[in-house]
This record gives sequence, C-alpha cells and structure tokens, in this order.
Amino acid sequence: MKFWTAIPLWARILLAMALGVAAGFALRPENGVVSALGLDAKAWSDTLKLIGDAFVRLIRMLAVPLIFVSVTAAVVSMGDLAKLGKSGARVAALYIPSGFLAAALGIGLALLLQPGVGAQTFTVDAPPAPPAEAPTARQFIEQIIPANPVQALANGDMLSVILFSLLFGVGLLGAGAASKPAADAIEGAASAFMKLTGYIMELAPIGAFALMAWVVAVMGAEALVRLSALVACVYLGCFIYGVIVYGGFIRLVLNLPVLPYFRGMAEPMAVAYATASSNATLPVTMRAMTEKLGISKRMSAFVASLGATVNMDGTAMYLALLTVFGAQLFNIPLDWPQYAGIVIAATLGAIGAAGIPGGSVIFMPIVFASAGVPLELIAIVLGADRLMDMARTVLNVLGDSVAAVAVAKWEGELDLAHYKTGTAPALAPT
Ligand code: ASP
Repeated sequence: MKFWTAIPLWARILLAMALGVAAGFALRPENGVVSALGLDAKAWSDTLKLIGDAFVRLIRMLAVPLIFVSVTAAVVSMGDLAKLGKSGARVAALYIPSGFLAAALGIGLALLLQPGVGAQTFTVDAPPAPPAEAPTARQFIEQIIPANPVQALANGDMLSVILFSLLFGVGLLGAGAASKPAADAIEGAASAFMKLTGYIMELAPIGAFALMAWVVAVMGAEALVRLSALVACVYLGCFIYGVIVYGGFIRLVLNLPVLPYFRGMAEPMAVAYATASSNATLPVTMRAMTEKLGISKRMSAFVASLGATVNMDGTAMYLALLTVFGAQLFNIPLDWPQYAGIVIAATLGAIGAAGIPGGSVIFMPIVFASAGVPLELIAIVLGADRLMDMARTVLNVLGDSVAAVAVAKWEGELDLAHYKTGTAPALAPT
C-alpha cells in the first residue's frame, strides 16, 4: 500500500488507465479470453461501467455545492465591487476570442487533413439537417435567471447557479460587516469541499481503470479504425491548441515558464481524460490551480467555476471540425460565410454545452445546420465520441486554468515562486 501511495496520483491514474485498456481488450469476444475463462463479458462490462459511474457521481456530487460556495466566496474575497468588475471583464476578454480561435483551428485542420474525404463507408444519401432553431431571447433569459435558485441548485443548472452565486456574493460584499458571519461560513465550507475532493481523488485510479476498460470493451478497436482519421484530427487539434496556443500564450504573452504549468495540471488533465467531464474535474482543477500553480484561492474559484461551464475550447474546436468532416463525408461544398457561421455556432455551442460526458452532442444539430450537414452524422460519430470527448475535455480544462493563470498574473494574485516550484513556499517557523 505504501508503495502504491508513493507513486504520484496522476501516474497512478495513468497506470490504471493502461491496465483498463488491457482489461477492456480482454473483454472483447473476438480475443477469446472471455470464452476461455467462461466469463459473461456483458455483465463484466456493465459492472465496470457501474464502478466508473460511481466514481464520477462521487466527484460530480461536489460540483454544484462547490460552485455555489466557491463562486460566492470568490466574489466576497474580491473585496470591493470595482475589482470584481475588472477581473470579470478580463475573464470574458479571454474566453470568447479563444473559443473562436479553437473553432477556426478545427476548421483549418479538417480542410488541411481532410479526414472525411474518400471515406466510402459513410457516403449515405441523407437529407440535409433542418434549419437550426436559435434560442429565443425569452428562453435565454429563463435559462440564466432562475425563478427559484434552490431549484436551480437542485437541477444543477450551472449558468443559473453561477449567476445566483455571483449575485449572492455581490449582496454579501455590499452588506459589509453585517454579513461577515455568513461570508466566513461560506469560505469555511469552500475549504471543506476542497479537502473532501482530495480524499475522493484517492479513488481516481479505480474509477479510471473501470471507465477505460468499459470504453474499450464496448467500442473495441474497430470503432477506432473506422473513425481513426477523425479521432486523429481531434487529438492533433487538442495537442496543437494545448501545447502551441496555450503554451505560446503562457511563454510569450504571460512571460512565464511553460513546464511548471503542464506539470501542475497533470492531475486535472488525467482526471479530465478519464471522466470526460469538466464539471467532474472541477474540484481537482481548482485544487491544482491553488496548490500547484500558486493561483490565489479566490481567483481559482472565480475563473475555474465560470470556465468549467462556459469556456470550452476543446468543444468549440471539436464541433467545428466535426461539421466540416461531415460536409466532406456527405460531399457538401462550403463557402466562407458558412465557415464563419460554423465558427460562431461552434463557439456558442461550446458556451451552452454542459461540462459532462457528451455535453456537446445536444448542440451538434445546431452547428451542423449552420452548414447544412445531415444529422445522420451524429449517429456515425457517436460510437467514437467518448474517445474524442476525453481529449477535448482535457483542452476544456486546460483553457480554464490558462485563463486563471493569466488573470491571476495580471491582477497580482499569482505566487511566482509557488508557480515555478509547484509547491507552496514553506511556512516560516513560528
Ligand atoms: N465532455 C465535455 C466536457 O465536460 C463537454 C463536451 O461534450 O464537449 O468538457
């Protein structure tokens, strides 16, 4: 046991995932292992899924209360309303252009590498997608402003929860000394949730093993082969965006070393990859931001919780790449205004998509419709979606932390020594 806990958590998770792949392959009927041992492969993969789901639920359980207490605490700790406004504007200024850029990269990669061209198997005659129905102003308002915040919390409506938490924080800030006990209680609860996250994370290798084994057992290598070009493009896009765009931004714009950043984010990246959920990863992301990257608690909470819901560069890139892939597959010529339409639709889809596994699937019809791509594409890619989901979720999570590093640095809330070494400076002896 000591030997196991001596390995860093992210390495334990990766090791468990590798074992999971092997177990998943062993469960494929064509490999003969199941029949040789007389196992019920379906029951085994169902059990693995159950174990994986239990882990994901355990960690997701924290997301809603954590967002509420930490966004509220973050607002309160901003100290005054003017500072809050300045940080908020900076966060928005980073999130929106980076969504556009990611979607444009997705289109560029699809045009350059043409993953959908010449794929004989998918040239089905399908009717074009019906025109998208943009949400009305009323629907949009109703989605954001909860009539009942308790209900929004119970339903896990992230946008509403965030708005309510922000406003509650503003109220606490405005009330000043009179609200101090309430503000202290919220801050204490935020620390408790962080601690609990750490405890639950110790179970991550088990969850990662089970989820990985299940994906491979259900999909097998065949799904990978059929959609390998698309999968490769998505992974390449995530890699380019993560390493070149985020890495370049950190190095050139923020003037910080890149290595400590990726080292510090190793755990959230592994969890994001295993769970395919930014929401589920959120507590781990916030912990890494404060404990490994040296970002102040309030800034981590503020930027990460907002980002987990609205900032999804991986999803924007994926939706755009997939739409062009579909156009290639179904031989639909696209022009520049349509590409621009895809970029906008994919970015909005990424803002609206929930940070859960397959969160972007619900937005596929809207983005596909912007280019007249048949909805059949959804069924074609759905089998391989999970694999691509895992990669884009890593990028989604990285995007939030890059924004957090940037805003923290600009606002003097980044401990540089902590960032560079990955550990908090030792406490001075008392
Ligand atoms: N699974 C992604 C996330 O949690 C959302 C998506 O489906 O793109 O970030």
